Amino acid sequence: MTFQIIEKFVTISGEAPIPGTPVYLIRFAGCNLNCRYCDVPYTDRITVTLSENELYDDILIHLKKYPFLKILLTGGEPLKEERQAALFRVISKLKSSTHVYIETNGSIHIDFFPEYAHFVCDWKTPSSGEEKSFHYENIKTLRPEKDSIKFVVTEKDFEWVKEKIEILQKVNPRLPVYFSPQWGKLNFKDLALFILKNRLPGIMSLQLHKMIWVNEKEGIENGAII
Ligand code: SF4
Repeated sequence: MTFQIIEKFVTISGEAPIPGTPVYLIRFAGCNLNCRYCDVPYTDRITVTLSENELYDDILIHLKKYPFLKILLTGGEPLKEERQAALFRVISKLKSSTHVYIETNGSIHIDFFPEYAHFVCDWKTPSSGEEKSFHYENIKTLRPEKDSIKFVVTEKDFEWVKEKIEILQKVNPRLPVYFSPQWGKLNFKDLALFILKNRLPGIMSLQLHKMIWVNEKEGIENGAII
């Protein structure tokens, strides 16, 4: 098994649940969805291929240079079936002090939880064009103390989101919920008012990386300091 990777670099995490935190971001190639607003249109551009051992060593090298770094696995879809078991093996070998965050698109059932992993699960909204992709079992299995749900919204999604929040409140009420505006499609104030007026149990999350690296189209050059 080899991991096909688009890019990897040290940067500041832009999004919930760890905005502003230094991370080693590894972006895996390939995604099973096709969201209208995808900001990674280069999901098939493979620049590095690593074996299981090489990926593990690569993470360790970065942690040795920067012990407080968190690991952010994203994509594409990092949990694609063909690499999921191998990825979990790599994570399970890491030391207990390592925090690994896995950004997943919600379409894949998360039913195995490596001890040091946190899942950040997107619940795709109608404006993504992929709202039917969500695996509903995930809202039962995600762990409130470690994992979270994220909605990326436009105004058109508001009523739909309110319905989903009601379901979440019944099934897994302590699970942290984050709302992000779809970049360029919803202004920050309108999202803030939506949360407040509807008394929603969630946290607004902005895409900090898009404010920091304003002129960069892709992440490759961002913060590549070690
Ligand atoms: S899940 Fe993420 S990477 Fe995949 S198409 Fe949607 S936005 Fe793009």
